[in-house]
Amino acid sequence: MNKKQHITQILKKLTLLYEDPKTALTHKTPFQLLVATILSAQCTDTRVNIVTKTLFKKYITPRDYADADQKQLEHDIHSTGFYRNKSKHIIATSKIITEKYQSEVPNTMKDLITLPGVARKTANVVLSEAYNINEGIAVDTHVARLSRRLGLTDQKDPKNIEKDLMKITPKNKWRTLSNLLIFHGRRTCHARKPACARCPLNNICPDTKKYPPKCESKITSGQIKIKSPNQS
Ligand code: SF4
Repeated sequence: MNKKQHITQILKKLTLLYEDPKTALTHKTPFQLLVATILSAQCTDTRVNIVTKTLFKKYITPRDYADADQKQLEHDIHSTGFYRNKSKHIIATSKIITEKYQSEVPNTMKDLITLPGVARKTANVVLSEAYNINEGIAVDTHVARLSRRLGLTDQKDPKNIEKDLMKITPKNKWRTLSNLLIFHGRRTCHARKPACARCPLNNICPDTKKYPPKCESKITSGQIKIKSPNQS
């Protein structure tokens, strides 16, 4: 089986397992998604959703964030971690969006990655989830780990992993692939103890033999359809 056939099998099997593969970050606008994605660095989506539930009521427009007092914003997002950098980036990004883009989040990779705190992963999430534009594949820690285990890449750098995945995945599946691998990384293919025995990919995954049953995580989901797991 070549890599294109391999990825087709992976997509087929994971689509049967996970319903509705889209970001677990709660948002109503592209700007809210951008803020939530910046906050999600080194933090669970569950924690981010708890914080943004209050944050999005307090700060409504990009101008509200641009004019925010940094210390106050640090306090508001404190529990997501790295709050000093995150608040600095959110304020600086909001200023640019307000002044240069008439308060609209830009919808190209070229423009998005010029914003403070926004690298390719965040830009890909915003483009695919908010604008339905497939310009790349969002590679987070789960996507990187599963791509290597499944033999889709040998690379370690997220940019190179993304390039390898883009070569073998149909463009209209880029967003789906990223979300499915994230879901599967959270539910089954855990970083330290992947649950290979109950993994529907275990007959096509080259790494399955590396993780004998004694290393498995506690079974939590079984082979049932699962909606939007919310943990990183
Ligand atoms: S078989 Fe094991 S290593 Fe491979 S994807 Fe499944 S859980 Fe991960």
